Amino acid sequence: MAFELVGSGERMHDLIRRLYPICRSLTGDGVRETLAILAEQIPLEVREVPTGTRVLDWEVPKEWNVRDAYIADESGRRVVDFAESNLHLMGYSVPVREQMLLEQLEPHLFSLPDRPDWIPYRTSYFKEQWGFCLPHRQLESLGDGEYEVCIDSTLEEGNLTYGELLLEGESEREVLFSCHICHPSLCNDNLSGIVVATTLAARLAKRSLRYSYRFLFVPGMLGPITWLALNESRLDRVAHGLVLTLLGDPGGFTYKRSRRHDAEIDRAVENVLGQLEGSELRDFSPWGYDERQYCSPGFDLPVGCLMRSPHGEFAEYHTSADDLDFVRPEALAESLATIGEVVDVLEGNDTFLNLSPKGEPQLGRRGLYGAVGGAIGGRSRELALLWVLNMSDGRHSLLAIAERSGLPFAAVRDAASSLLGVELLGRARRS
Ligand code: ZN
Repeated sequence: MAFELVGSGERMHDLIRRLYPICRSLTGDGVRETLAILAEQIPLEVREVPTGTRVLDWEVPKEWNVRDAYIADESGRRVVDFAESNLHLMGYSVPVREQMLLEQLEPHLFSLPDRPDWIPYRTSYFKEQWGFCLPHRQLESLGDGEYEVCIDSTLEEGNLTYGELLLEGESEREVLFSCHICHPSLCNDNLSGIVVATTLAARLAKRSLRYSYRFLFVPGMLGPITWLALNESRLDRVAHGLVLTLLGDPGGFTYKRSRRHDAEIDRAVENVLGQLEGSELRDFSPWGYDERQYCSPGFDLPVGCLMRSPHGEFAEYHTSADDLDFVRPEALAESLATIGEVVDVLEGNDTFLNLSPKGEPQLGRRGLYGAVGGAIGGRSRELALLWVLNMSDGRHSLLAIAERSGLPFAAVRDAASSLLGVELLGRARRS
């Protein structure tokens, strides 16, 4: 894709830095504040769905907001303070204002004994309770005595908030990009997907597009469930889709296929990642991110999940160590470029017909043999021309030709453009 990548990683990292302090959750003002910042870059529509709305087998929950939360010792000193890190408070903690002894407090404290300096990330969306998360070292340093516990939160009728953007292309058929926006100060898990999706949307908005592109910025699980429930009658427009998450760490790419296993999106991503060292392909499983909802059997949408290091497989996952240093500008830029290449495959994948199929046509006479250009050598270019001519019988798409030949999709697409230019190819049908 003709993306200007210089500086894009730094700009995405700057946006992460700006979004990092905001206390996001399944619902609440942190989600609205996040969407408002994204709306400075892309024309996002913000949707509000009221508490109690029935969505598939679920209901939109109460909205949660926090003003302040802390544990103070007998001298009044705050020993755990939400103002220092929003990870200190368990998400969806109910309001509390009590004096209690350490032994009464302890069942509400969460730490990681094997990572004593990190704060874990915990939520309790569906059971009304409260808790604080803190470094194990800090937990162990708490002395006996009385503590003041304050959680100045509200859990009330309100809304579930999400952001949606549609970029209209020639076709009503859509490519869906979805990312979750419900984690507080965690960078790789949620912010990396958010900034890559936002930057991708801003770039695509400047292009003329074959497909329409829909971007969803939704709280995990209930966000896609809500969107699916509200849009059920028009889901047949979703031609391809990707859940974008964990795109800023230094690991190689991991692609989790859609439930369909060999949908065009699965093949497109496989082709692009096939050119990159250290990439891994995995089959669908009903566990992970929001592909679980898009790929539930009643919808079975062709939606895979693109990430770098998978969730739960790196130590920093769901801890305070998933911070601004853990996500790298160069990894963000490479993720954006790679998704751009996947878009190029989807946009450029056509099926053609060789108009001179009996014997090889004379390429030299048409100025194509020995005509060298682009990043690939002359020989691969000639090879690509021969592959496209041979396989373009109206049944093999350019992606199928790339798969069969082992050539990069871009080389196959360039060869097809050249052959169209000298009228050796005709359009068979749009796939
Ligand atoms: Zn997560």
